Amino acid sequence: MSEKKEKQVPNNVIPLASARCASDGCKAKPTRAGFCEEHFEWFKAGLITKEGQRALDFDKKYQHFASSKRKSA
Ligand SMILES: [Zn+2]
Repeated sequence: MSEKKEKQVPNNVIPLASARCASDGCKAKPTRAGFCEEHFEWFKAGLITKEGQRALDFDKKYQHFASSKRKSA
């Protein structure tokens, strides 16, 4: 009996181990979900999408994010 071992490679899988943070222009090493620590916070706050693109109301959200961060520090 012989079995064929076929490797099935799905072709639209996003590589998890990318060398850089997904945020545009950031060169830090990704630590979580493809982002560096800082940009993961941004992602959580809704500042950037998981592709690393800025939200439409980025400026507004960033101000809110920055001020809430200052308070908790
Ligand atoms: Zn980053």
